[in-house]
Amino acid sequence: MIYIHIPFCKQKCSYCNFHFSTSLQSKDEVLSAIKKEIFLRKDELQNKTLQSLYFGGGTPSVLSGDEINSIVDEVLKYYSFEKDIEITLEANPDDLDKSFLKDLSKSPVNRLSIGTQSFFDEDLKLMNRAHNASEAEGSIKRSQDFGFENLSIDLIYGSPTSNLEIWKENLNKTIALEVPHISSYALTVEPKTALNDWILKGKVANPKEEEQNKEFYYLSDFLKDNGFDHYEVSNFAKPGFYSRHNSAYWKYKEYLGIGPSAHSYNGSDIRSWNVANNQNYIKKLNANLLAKETEVLSSEDQFNEMIMIGLRTFWGVDLESLKDKFSDETFQRLQSEIKQKLADGILVIENNHLKIPEKHWFMADGIASDLFLV
Ligand code: SF4
Repeated sequence: MIYIHIPFCKQKCSYCNFHFSTSLQSKDEVLSAIKKEIFLRKDELQNKTLQSLYFGGGTPSVLSGDEINSIVDEVLKYYSFEKDIEITLEANPDDLDKSFLKDLSKSPVNRLSIGTQSFFDEDLKLMNRAHNASEAEGSIKRSQDFGFENLSIDLIYGSPTSNLEIWKENLNKTIALEVPHISSYALTVEPKTALNDWILKGKVANPKEEEQNKEFYYLSDFLKDNGFDHYEVSNFAKPGFYSRHNSAYWKYKEYLGIGPSAHSYNGSDIRSWNVANNQNYIKKLNANLLAKETEVLSSEDQFNEMIMIGLRTFWGVDLESLKDKFSDETFQRLQSEIKQKLADGILVIENNHLKIPEKHWFMADGIASDLFLV
């Protein structure tokens, strides 16, 4: 699978610390560099038939239909696509107007991941999103009118502008819109963000963990009652609508990340990441050089990642593959570490897979880190 990072956004959301630029001046140069990188790295993926291609960002919907097609064509020069390949484009509601959707419906993109975040203006203002509540709803309906059924929306819970009642309304609207996939995250306060600054200055209240906990479990129960599978801590899908791309990440498959700040993984012990700076990225690629750094993962790193990622999913961690991959000593250590947690019901083993029961998923990262090798 291939991930393409489009490092541009119209404006900076108050909580975001991803890599992007709000100036589109270097867009053409970045796109040329992305195509060059696809060429230079054409032999890195073992599997030449792709199951998924994912445009993430940033905001890939700042591109035109032609620009998106030209990147897909570049990938197609070196890879073939599975017949039912999933091609996802992350899109912001304010970009999904009729003319863009018309172009997109003629492209191979067959899945949209829409950055809705909330159907309430108060929340959207605090988040400094580029769209309002009516665009949030309209963009979903328009996408469906143009034939995009495989839709995911992002929703953020636990904002200081929200509460359980507002959150319930957000979820009611989501169900009424018949969206088959939802990614939902707690509002987190990252360093060097406007949100962090406002909180430090006392202009905005800190999100309350207790409130977030309540909203998370309401979300999980409500969506399951409405036919969704809760297949990863932050992800819910109707059967048949799981994200193929993200599911492959969670199953430790190899992937190639193209574009500034994109990460790649060889499915075993090599991880790399591109420079998170558009100008440096362009310069390197113009000189026919890759803009990446590479790290060889130690056995401990690989073990910790398998635990961290696997315990966030409803598949859990396959104990058989852990046993095959790591030393007897590591496996025995894990067995003794999990004993008490199994007795306390914080972990369970089903079909030889180690899992966190869903009622403890809000704490999944903490539970996983207790099992890490240091
Ligand atoms: S649109 Fe996405 S990537 Fe861009 S600033 Fe907002 S949250 Fe960050």
